[in-house]
Amino acid sequence: MLRALFILLFISQSSHAFSTPIVSVRVGKSLRNIIVSGLDLKRHLVFNNDTKSFIGKKTVKFNCETYTTLNKQRNKPILLATLESPTGLLSYGNDKYQGMFKIITNPKGDSCDIVNEIPMEAYISSLLTKEMNPKWPIEALKAQAVAARTYALHKMRTQQVTKELGSEAYYDLESSQKHQVAGSYFDKTDSTNEASNSTRGEILTTESGQIQPIFFNAKCGGRTLRPDQVWHNKEESYQSVNCPFCHDIGPKNWNHYFSMERLKSFFSWASNEGYLKEKLDREINSIELAPDSIDKFVVNFYINDRPFIVEKTVLRKYFGGVLFPSNTFAIQKNGNIIGVLGEGLGHGVGLCQMGAFAMANRGWSYKKILSHYFPSHVLKKLY
Ligand SMILES: [Zn+2]
Repeated sequence: MLRALFILLFISQSSHAFSTPIVSVRVGKSLRNIIVSGLDLKRHLVFNNDTKSFIGKKTVKFNCETYTTLNKQRNKPILLATLESPTGLLSYGNDKYQGMFKIITNPKGDSCDIVNEIPMEAYISSLLTKEMNPKWPIEALKAQAVAARTYALHKMRTQQVTKELGSEAYYDLESSQKHQVAGSYFDKTDSTNEASNSTRGEILTTESGQIQPIFFNAKCGGRTLRPDQVWHNKEESYQSVNCPFCHDIGPKNWNHYFSMERLKSFFSWASNEGYLKEKLDREINSIELAPDSIDKFVVNFYINDRPFIVEKTVLRKYFGGVLFPSNTFAIQKNGNIIGVLGEGLGHGVGLCQMGAFAMANRGWSYKKILSHYFPSHVLKKLY
C-alpha cells in the first residue's frame, strides 16, 4: 500500500517536472475588432461566464469598442474571452494557429489585443522560420532554438511584461522585434520541428544556475558584445568573444558618411545625456579623432583639444541602425566629413546567427556553437 502510494507520488511529481510549458504570445494589438474562425469552436465569454460550443466551421467577431465600458475605470487589461478549436486550428487574419486564443482589452480600454497560448516547442518551431531560416543547417537551427527558448522562459518566469504593466498582462511575450517574432502554424517545417523537438526543454543558464535572457543577432561582424556594452544592463556569464565565422556570410562591409555638424550635434546630445565623463560647457570649435580600428570598443576624440572617450555603442544609439548597421566599425575624419567603415548587422550581443550558419556548415554541433558564443553559460535540460 505504502509502496503504491510512493509510486503514485513519484509519477505525479515526475510528470509535473517534465511538462511542457505553455507560452502566451501577443500576436495582435490595438485592434478595433477581432475575427476568429475555426472548426467546432468553443467560445468562453469570461465577463458573463458564458460558454458556447459550435458544431462545424464557425466565425466569431468581437467588436472591441462595445467592451470599452467594461474597463473604463479600471485602466488595466481585462480578459474578455477564450477561444479553442478542439478538433483543428484557429484562424486569425491570414494565419492559422494551434492552441488557444485569449481576447483581452487594451489597458487604455479602446481596443483589444489577441494572445495565443501555445506549447513551448510548437512556439519555438514556428519562430525559427521568422527569426532564422528553415532552410539553414539543422545544428544552427538547434542553437537558435535553445537561445529563443531561454529568452521566452526568462520572460515567463520573471513575468516581466506583467511587472512592467503593473497589472496582469495575460501574455508573456509580444510577437515583435522588441521581443521575438513568433510564426504561425504553417511556418513550421520538418526541419524546424526537428530543431525544436530534439532540443526539447534545453536552455542556457548562467554559471550560478539562473535563467537570464539569451540574446541573438544577425551578424556580429567579427566579435560579439556583452549586454552591458550595448544597453548597460549587466547580465551574469556573458562574454565578448571573437567570431571569425560570419565574415563571408550575409551582408558585406558597409561604408557611410556624415557631416562634422552632425558629429557636433551628437556631442551636445551625449553631453546632456551624461555619456561623457564631463559635461561640455563651451562651444565646440574643433573635433579630432585618434586613429581607430574595427576591433576597438571605444573612439578617442579630442574636443577643443581635450580628450574624450566615447563608446561605439553610444554613437550607434544616437545615429541609428541605418547609418550604423552594427556596433562593429572604425571611424575616421577627412576634412569636414566623417567616414564609418563597418561590418555586421544588429546589436552584436549573444549568438551570431551568420556565424552559427557558417559553423554548422563546417560540421559543428549546436552544443559546440553555443559554447563558443556562451563559454560561461551552462546547457541544461529543464523538462
Ligand atoms: Zn559573427
